[in-house]
Amino acid sequence: MTYLAVPACGHDVDSMAKQVQAAKQRGAEMVELRLDYLDRLDPDSVGRLVRLSHGLDLPVIVTCRDISEGGHRNYPPELRLRVLCKALQEGADYVDCEWANFQRPEVCKSLSEAIRDRPASRLILSAHDFEKPFTDPADLIHEIRQANPQAVPKLAFMANHINDCFAAIDLLSARRTDMILLCMGSAGVISRILAQKFGSFVTYVGLEEDSITAPGQLTLEQMLCLYRFHAIRPDTEIYGVIGDPVAHSLSPAIFNAAFEAAGVNAVYVPVLVQEQRRGFTEFLDHVVQREIDGGFGFRGFSVTIPHKAHAMEYVQDKGDYLEPLAGKIGAVNTLKVGYGGIVTGYNTDYAGAMDALTTAMGIERHGLHGKNVAVIGAGGVSRAVIAGLADVGAKVTIYNRTLAKAEALAGQFDTRYAPLDQLINLKADIIINCTSIGMHPDVETSSVPQQVLTDSMTVFDTVYNPLETTFLKQAASVGARVVNGAEMFIRQAIAQYRLWFQALPPEDIVRRTVYSNLSNPTL
Ligand code: NAP
Repeated sequence: MTYLAVPACGHDVDSMAKQVQAAKQRGAEMVELRLDYLDRLDPDSVGRLVRLSHGLDLPVIVTCRDISEGGHRNYPPELRLRVLCKALQEGADYVDCEWANFQRPEVCKSLSEAIRDRPASRLILSAHDFEKPFTDPADLIHEIRQANPQAVPKLAFMANHINDCFAAIDLLSARRTDMILLCMGSAGVISRILAQKFGSFVTYVGLEEDSITAPGQLTLEQMLCLYRFHAIRPDTEIYGVIGDPVAHSLSPAIFNAAFEAAGVNAVYVPVLVQEQRRGFTEFLDHVVQREIDGGFGFRGFSVTIPHKAHAMEYVQDKGDYLEPLAGKIGAVNTLKVGYGGIVTGYNTDYAGAMDALTTAMGIERHGLHGKNVAVIGAGGVSRAVIAGLADVGAKVTIYNRTLAKAEALAGQFDTRYAPLDQLINLKADIIINCTSIGMHPDVETSSVPQQVLTDSMTVFDTVYNPLETTFLKQAASVGARVVNGAEMFIRQAIAQYRLWFQALPPEDIVRRTVYSNLSNPTL
């Protein structure tokens, strides 16, 4: 079992007591009393906080860090030691002492004596590196165990890249006794979410955003509601979104909600992969190697900026299956990891766009054959949309600010092209905006002159922030059929789910999650 622990870090005993109560109310399973946050450190106040926690049926860790190990205030070492010994006398379940301090004879002696009379209490011996991974974490754990076999070793280190997390995950997976292993920083978030899967004894979460005590810590609400901490088990499959940045991705909310509604034993995590192609390739090599070695349960990834081309190249280099249209687009936004580490690549951006369009028009994809379609833009989204349209034989004209880009794309997909100022002469059945024109904060702008819009047209804006762009408002005002960017987003997510599970997700849940998040105009 992994305890979900909330650090209480109030500046006085009363506010710390309130945090302990709030933590219990909101679903914490353990509290960590971070006494180094107190403005006044008094050994006598420890008992009150320990009794309060026990009265609420919450196991308690008592910690009083020094600044070099991430503490808030530098109290004198003797006072901190007295406080920790007092915590043991008062019945604290766990007392966390820094391994560097425990190696001092007087600290080791006092704590060992204090714990001798307390068979129900345990020491946590912790080491932190706020800059980089430990050179040899296995050796450090071994050293801690040798010094005190009953203690729970805890290592928390900065993951400067997501690939640093694998050292922690490997050690946890091979563990035979309790240990706490966590990676700090944005790249280390997966180690916190997957603590329950890989078996860290504790994972720490902040009560609120402003009471986070280590870099990369999530809030209690995020862990319980967004990542469904209690649904994660050792056999839970892992999915995620690979990108840089990924912190604001909607995908974890969409897929975790879908997994919950469908009763799927899976979790979806943000996978921050830095360092362009090299970082990406190394990450997937780690994943594949672990699947070959016995299976960690990585099953699939959504891929976003800047890794869609890297994902395609990875699958090509490995010789596994690449969806032909994804190869033609030059981008993979969906990876499937099969048993034995087989990685296959797909593109659901084009599928999402085609499905959004055809559903609104009440036709099948082949019904687009021969339709005149104006695509505005020649970037990544245009490329996916044009590939899908060309595949079913639509007559496409590409309009773009940089004409050379439109020309190159037109050459590849055998379409016509024109500069943006030719939009005034546009005659089309369908217009699709694939530029960022009209996106927040420039919400008053539109890529298309209003006078070319007619009621017989279908008008699709891939921009989803805002949901109703000026382009769509103007099209709706002349009676055109309109399709917003959220529909493409929803349908590409549904297509991903279908590739991973060979089943449709609960569409109402996906739709509700996307619309409730995108309705926030500040996104
Ligand atoms: P991209 O590769 O950077 O391409 C951007 C395109 O927009 C280029 O053709 C660029 O023209 C054009 N553009 C940008 N600013 C312009 C301006 N001020 N005036 C004229 N043209 C301008 O971006 P992308 O990945 O294709 O994404 C484009 C848009 O698609 C995004 O802004 C987003 O709103 C939307 N999107 C929607 C979804 C969805 O699921 N609905 C998913 C992803 C993206 P140049 O070639 O001349 O630079």
